[in-house]
Amino acid sequence: MKNKVKMRELDQAKRVHHFLEVACGYSEEEAVLEASRCLECKHPKCVLACPVEIDIPGFIQAIKKRDFEGAYEVVTKDNVLPAICGRVCPQESQCEGACIVGIKNEAVSIGALERFVGDYARLHMKTSKVKAKKIDKKVALVGSGPASLACAAVLVEEGVHVDMFEALHDYGGVLMYGIPSFRLPKDIVKEEIKVLEDKGVHFHKNVLIGKTITIDELKEDYDAIFLGTGAGLPRELGLPGEHGSGIYYANEFLTRVNLMGSADFPNHKTPVKIGQKVAVIGGGNVAMDAARTARRLGAREVFILYRRDMDSLPARKEEIHHAMEEGIEFRLLESPVSFALEDYQVKSVKTEVMKLGDLDASGRRRPIGSGTFSDHEVDSVIVAIGQSPNPIVKRATKELKTDEWGRVVVDDALQTSIEGVYAGGDSVLGAATVILAMGAGKKAALNMVKSFKS
Ligand code: FAD
Ligand code: SF4
Repeated sequence: MKNKVKMRELDQAKRVHHFLEVACGYSEEEAVLEASRCLECKHPKCVLACPVEIDIPGFIQAIKKRDFEGAYEVVTKDNVLPAICGRVCPQESQCEGACIVGIKNEAVSIGALERFVGDYARLHMKTSKVKAKKIDKKVALVGSGPASLACAAVLVEEGVHVDMFEALHDYGGVLMYGIPSFRLPKDIVKEEIKVLEDKGVHFHKNVLIGKTITIDELKEDYDAIFLGTGAGLPRELGLPGEHGSGIYYANEFLTRVNLMGSADFPNHKTPVKIGQKVAVIGGGNVAMDAARTARRLGAREVFILYRRDMDSLPARKEEIHHAMEEGIEFRLLESPVSFALEDYQVKSVKTEVMKLGDLDASGRRRPIGSGTFSDHEVDSVIVAIGQSPNPIVKRATKELKTDEWGRVVVDDALQTSIEGVYAGGDSVLGAATVILAMGAGKKAALNMVKSFKS
């Protein structure tokens, strides 16, 4: 069996000075070579391990035959954002984690091949024409993240009139304001969204549902509504000194850089001052993105503070690997307990050294305080310990049921407590993944269509 075709990457020492994409993608020759590693299993486990069940062997076979357009057609039957998912999905715990080749060798690079197909289509293919209108119904989608985008893709193909309302001044949700461009270039997000626009989805920005228009008002004009409002409310630590100057929540920090051009201050008007020593609290993708962004903004010493060990870090393996290459330090088994401020400015973080006890409800070993403390000098801190759904829609919509964490409660059809109002993605799951959000958007759309036809 041939070895995996490694993807070329930008030089690690140079790339920390800019925001260009680190992973360079496959050439046509490399993609065909990697595709030739697929065994075309009769009962492919990779398909079952993909949350939207893409016909993986089908699109890989098409790549083998150099039928790249055919490969795109196969992938986009189940996933409308291949160039994005190929880049950001946690493949090692999904499709690639189940690939048979991975038992004795490295798994087939399904994500990289999906990315190749998405990029090929962006560069070489024209959007297929909008189909004749079949269903005389109108649907309003709230939010423009992956959940709403996947929902829109199904509805527009069915000939439903789709209006998408976004609170911010750009579309794409976390794909635009959260995930940095060195991992997901913004023109790729814009181009994949443009495909939906060309197919007839109507996009409306700067509309905050719950304030500008309420759900009750939308209900008067639309046959169904989808809430894809995500989980943009940062979780706080609840520690002394946490609201001091120089302490950011990751969402705010990344939004300033990704959406408001802080990296280019003063050409853009939103500054973000982080200094030279930056502590990032958390161990997920958001923490890695914040740390790597801080490095690119010029910080010399960036370190992750995480209360468990290396094996428990929830971030994608590739992100951890890239963060290490870029000089991010991992101070593990340390949990913050307070921040020392001087004139309101953060100066240091006090942490308690942890040890790992028995397994907890999440299946990981529970961190337990050791009674030993340590101090870390800092110029700034970025808190990345999770997000919850924003309560704006809920506050303006009394009948909408949410749980104790503010997540929208849905039934099996993804319908909320209000008839005709569906929800999916992070607003229902809490902070999850792009592909799970897309799977939910697609499912809600199929259920809407079923109800329209019945
Ligand atoms: P979102 O993407 O959050 O989109 C919701 C949209 O709704 C936003 O644009 C918001 O402005 C808008 N909105 C909210 N309220 C309103 C309102 N009242 N009116 C109008 N609009 C509203 N997942 C992965 O799979 N891989 C990764 O590598 C990865 N990295 C991540 C890195 C970061 C920094 C973050 C924050 C998340 C990451 N995730 C990753 C998680 C993933 O991005 C989310 O699970 C996914 O984007 C959720 O999609 P969504 O459509 O539910 O919500
Ligand atoms: Fe190909 Fe691996 Fe999927 Fe089998 S499990 S079809 S080898 S990608």
